[in-house]
Order: sequence, then C-alpha cells, then structure tokens
Amino acid sequence: MTDQSTPYPRNWAGYAGKPPAIRLPGNQRLAINLILNLEEGAERNVLDGDDSSEHYLSGFSGLPERTGARHPSSESLFAYGARAGFWRLHRLFEEYKIPVTVFACGQALARNPAIAKVLGQSNHEIAGHGWRWIDYHHFSREDEREHLLRTLDTIHQSTGKPARGWYTGRKSLHTRELVIEAGLLWDSDDYSDDYPWWENGHLIIPYTLLNNDCLYGSSPGWITPDHFYQHLKSTFDCLYREGGAQPSLMTVGLHCRLSGHPGRSEAIREFLNYTSSYPDVWFTTRSSIADLWIQQYRQ
Ligand SMILES: [Zn+2]
Repeated sequence: MTDQSTPYPRNWAGYAGKPPAIRLPGNQRLAINLILNLEEGAERNVLDGDDSSEHYLSGFSGLPERTGARHPSSESLFAYGARAGFWRLHRLFEEYKIPVTVFACGQALARNPAIAKVLGQSNHEIAGHGWRWIDYHHFSREDEREHLLRTLDTIHQSTGKPARGWYTGRKSLHTRELVIEAGLLWDSDDYSDDYPWWENGHLIIPYTLLNNDCLYGSSPGWITPDHFYQHLKSTFDCLYREGGAQPSLMTVGLHCRLSGHPGRSEAIREFLNYTSSYPDVWFTTRSSIADLWIQQYRQ
C-alpha cells in the first residue's frame, strides 16, 4: 500500500527545461567552481573507534576492507593527500589565482593544522563536509547534529572563516534539515540538476560525481589523467556553448589524495590552461554563486 497521508517527496520536474536566467558579473558566460575535498584524517580507522579500516577512494581500487584492524597501506595512501597532494594543488590554485571551495571534514582540519592555517590565509572558501568522512545513514539525528555543529565550530576556529554551505556526501534523511537548522545558506547534497534551486528559502547547489576525480580507479572508470581532462574539456565545451544563450555553472570535484599526485595534477593544469584562453569564464566559489541567486532569483 502506498502511504497517501504525505505527498510523494521526489521532484521530477525541476525547472522543466526553463531554468532562471542568472547574469554573471561582467556578463560572463560560464561560472566554474572547483571543489577541493579535504577528508584525510577523517576516514574510517579502528584507531577512531570504527569497526574497520577505510578502503573506499584510497586512490588504489583493489584495496580490500580490513575488519577490526588497522590497514597501514590504506592509511598512508590517505596521508599522501595531507602531506603532499594538498600542497601541490594549493600551489596550482595560487599560480592560476583562482579561489576554490574546500569541502572540509572537521576532523581532517583538526588533524592538519598547517593546512587549516594556509586555508585561513587564502581566498578559498571553506564549507562543511561532516566531522568524519563516513556514511551518516545509520546515525541518530542527535549524534549527526552534534557532528555537524562541531564541524562548523572547528572550521571557524581553525581558519577564521565561518562556513556558509555544506556537503555530507553519504548523507542521512536528516542531513538537510540539520543544515537548515544550523543556519547554513546552501548545501550540495544533491545531483539532480545543472542549476541551483530554492527549497523553502534554502539554496541547493547541485554537486557532481562525474566531473569528479573519484572516478579514477573505479570500475569502469578513468585510468589516465587524459581521461579526466577530456571529460572536463567536453563538459566545458558543452556548457560554454549553452552559456551563449544562458549563463551556466560548472562544478569540478577534486580530492587531495587523488588529483594531488603529480601526473594527475597535470589534468587540472591542462584544464586551467585550456579554459584560461576564454575571456568570459569566471572561476569562483559556491557562496559567490549563492549570492548571485539571492540577488537575482530569491524564492
Ligand atoms: Zn568528499
């Protein structure tokens, strides 16, 4: 039997092919927001009371999960992101003078004070990405709320910048409610559109798992940096063309321990080289995009 007492909660219509026309500063055609996920130090580990070690998105797809024990190789694959990968990508963003949005896990910031300090001094924005880099599906509402508030507090204390947005990733059915309760402006826990949209005064800026280096090593996924570059270039070419009629938004998801490796970082450099030959492309943060929507299309 279908429950008739509550309306069916899924939305298939969206803008029905007619998203609102948002003007970008200087009448540019395309806004690009790079996301850097900072998760290293927040992944599963029996040292943190988890029942198994992390094997997901370690950068090496064949790694098995290890129950009840540490997994030293996995731990060091993650540590690479904090020790080397973050810094390489940070230098690249500095070189090209582009601000990015960092999806930061609270525990990762707490365990990497040198990274938190540099982020505080940069023009990057910091958004919340859960206290831990885990699946929040089985969390009680109260425990998840406590993790969320602790993350926001840690972001503010360690970088000096209050978070305005949020992305859990493996979210629960409570996550959006908790994000709104905490007073955050936007979240990105959604993949169902190209354009942002309002839900009861809360802005959803959809994220992507396709323009995302998480596809390295997944099956079937990308093997070489060129696979990632070609995918980003095709996405850009399509959105730039569409941006002639209506400005659009491109998101790219990166991880310190994935794209921070020398060879893979070249895919990002090539993409920045390619896009910088276009005069009307705006590299910006998610909150700057949110501000445009507030100014031009508040619902
Ligand atoms: Zn992430």
